[in-house]
Amino acid sequence: MSLQDDDLVFLDELNEESAPVQAENYHKLLIVDDDPDVHAITLMALSDFRFHGAGLSFLSAYSAAEARNILDSEKNIALILLDVVMESDDAGLQLVRYVREYQANWLTRIILRTGQPGQAPEFDVIVNYDINDYKDKTELTAVKLYTTVFVSLRAYRQMLTIEMSRQGLVKILSASNSLFEYQSMNEFVQGVVLQLRSLIDCIGGAMLCGVSDPGSCDSVDAVRVVASAGELEKFAPGSLVTQCLPPDACELISQAISTLENIYADSGSVIVFRTVNRAVSVVYLRGEGCLSQMDRYLLEIFCNKVALGFDNIYFIDQMRQLARHEPLTNLLNREALVNELKNRLLNAADTSAGLGVIVIGLDRFKDVNTDLGYAAGDRLLRVIASRLCSMLTDTGLASRLGADQFAVIVSNILSANELRDLTDKLLQMILQPVELEGEEVLPAASLGFVFVSGRSLRPAYDLIAEAEAAMAEAKRLGGNRVEQAVSSGGATQSGRLTLIRDLSYALDRKELRVLYQPIYKASSRQLAGFEALLRWHHPERGSVVPDKFIAEAEVSGLIVPIGSWVLRTATADALRWHASYAEKAEQVKLSVNVSARQLLTSDLVGMVERIIDESAIAPALLKLEITESMIMEDPARVEAMMLRLKDMGVCLSLDDFGTGYSSISYLHRYPFDTLKLDRSFVSTMFDRKQSMPIIQAVVRLAEALNIETIAEGVETENQARTLLDIGCDYLQGYFFGRPMTIDDANQLVADSL
Ligand code: C2E
Ligand code: CA
Ligand code: CA
Repeated sequence: MSLQDDDLVFLDELNEESAPVQAENYHKLLIVDDDPDVHAITLMALSDFRFHGAGLSFLSAYSAAEARNILDSEKNIALILLDVVMESDDAGLQLVRYVREYQANWLTRIILRTGQPGQAPEFDVIVNYDINDYKDKTELTAVKLYTTVFVSLRAYRQMLTIEMSRQGLVKILSASNSLFEYQSMNEFVQGVVLQLRSLIDCIGGAMLCGVSDPGSCDSVDAVRVVASAGELEKFAPGSLVTQCLPPDACELISQAISTLENIYADSGSVIVFRTVNRAVSVVYLRGEGCLSQMDRYLLEIFCNKVALGFDNIYFIDQMRQLARHEPLTNLLNREALVNELKNRLLNAADTSAGLGVIVIGLDRFKDVNTDLGYAAGDRLLRVIASRLCSMLTDTGLASRLGADQFAVIVSNILSANELRDLTDKLLQMILQPVELEGEEVLPAASLGFVFVSGRSLRPAYDLIAEAEAAMAEAKRLGGNRVEQAVSSGGATQSGRLTLIRDLSYALDRKELRVLYQPIYKASSRQLAGFEALLRWHHPERGSVVPDKFIAEAEVSGLIVPIGSWVLRTATADALRWHASYAEKAEQVKLSVNVSARQLLTSDLVGMVERIIDESAIAPALLKLEITESMIMEDPARVEAMMLRLKDMGVCLSLDDFGTGYSSISYLHRYPFDTLKLDRSFVSTMFDRKQSMPIIQAVVRLAEALNIETIAEGVETENQARTLLDIGCDYLQGYFFGRPMTIDDANQLVADSL
């Protein structure tokens, strides 16, 4: 047949190139009609039909029932030419319903045909069931039929494209979500490559490569394999790309890294991405033929997600490293020390040599801070740290336990006397003068030590606690001396026991207080809230800071009544500022710390519910601060409790972020409103190389997850300004205000509104 003037109409279309959808070599057309002549005529009229270079494949049904069978077994039918009246008056319409409603197929195009003009279906059938056309059989001359089919196939194809794009986006979404689960660079990269291949079918192999040295980032000679999959899997990570890939592929990569633009060529494609922490990375994809527009589009979205993932993983790696170390002195932290001691105790179990644990407390360290400033205090701590390290041989290990406390563990010690000698030497070393701020300072310290023979089965924690108690005893005796722990743990036990006993009276004796530390909005420097911090005023011990007693309160279970007292007291106090300053105070939130024991062993959620009911505080004003280690104790339970709290409208904050395990997937999985960047990052942001990129990565990550950030421990204007520049939302620290009494807090609210 000839097309005549219809030619012109479709000329454009026939030349259309780079069709997004993989074309099959034919389009399936189903003819449904009880009149065999109609089948014959249709086949004849469309015999040389072409659409986008492909012909038609015909399926024939002579009743609606037969058509249903075909529809059940055949996939991807592009078009149905459907007779309305067959075995019944509305058999055709029933079939339409079957396709659209029962099969939920809205892609296949449908053209209705009727014998007589009077049999036109109702208008709403055409609208509701997305019927492409409705024709009188007499109207369907060969040319008309040809054009109608053409237009319908075009519509089918467009819908298919949209559907594929939708499915692609869904895939990307789930692919990038699962990427968040990966915890190491290697796993992550394997995941990326895997996801890429599932995203885009025609990719034969994929290789992720990068330059480790940002200085050499425009030469392909420095590019190495990070991971690969598919056809390229045989190339090991670390190999030079130039030794793995053929010259044309290297040329593509070279071009991509020098122009920083993605390249799509017939032999392969290169996607470039840059992340904060790595210079340039590229994904090289090998596959036949150029990627379609749609593939490119999906690929680029996916790679943007990947870049974010890279930052996260890098950040986790850094975190792991930091989690063992204390940032100021770079010594091991308490947790890492305990682990190390545990290992050594296990290893020493069948040897005759013993182990020593020494705890060192600097005397009058506070005076250095107050007289010469915090910077000088920090310097002194670093000097002491390096002195300890210089004294130790490879059997010794130093750690910083807390503000002005250090610990040393040594293996291969034969006797308590040998350990005492070593401890004495450490003290002499510490006593050497140090020059700080142009002044000579004479450090002093109290040391406690405990010796255990190799066969001892004492828990690591107890040993450290004993050495700490001995150190405290040395302090009590005037300082600047060495004390040996009373063996069998008696002394420490009783020390802890009296502390716990005293603490159990503290509530009744009204020795507990809550102080409030202000939190400010970084951009406007407006008061945004207070964090409630507990204090214990003991008649003999004086003011005891939480670090000294929270752990004991947890062990003994006293944290439960104490914690609920804090929550009640603080909400009552907060209500006072809200009552006095009405809706103006609405922006001023109250944050309360919650401990693991409280969360897991008491009915915290119930208690919060009651407090909200009784006090009528707006739930959104209340924020609970939870640490990561709490989640780790029982992830599923904590999640359930957090969801209940969120349901009530209470806000949740992830405290001390960066000090623990820092699993990004926690942020992802648990409903946190805010994240508190730990003080250790802020205090070292200008003098520790790793701190700044970590702060940046955390803030960006939080942004991506829609979580607000609070930086803790801001002590200088410079820190405050830099944190604002980085994008931190809220700031808290001595620069803005120390923890203060409720009266002072009230005054502050009044002054700032
Ligand atoms: P946290 O939640 O990390 O609280 C912040 C700590 O940093 C507070 O110490 C605060 O006084 C101190 N801080 C704030 N700004 C600065 C600064 O600019 N520089 C320096 N050097 N320090 C700053 P605090 O009050 O001694 O509390 C220690 C920890 O005790 C808290 O750490 C929290 O984990 C726990 N804690 C305090 N109150 C409670 C409570 O009511 N319940 C529970 N379960 N734990 C509490
Ligand atoms: Ca806190
Ligand atoms: Ca904190």
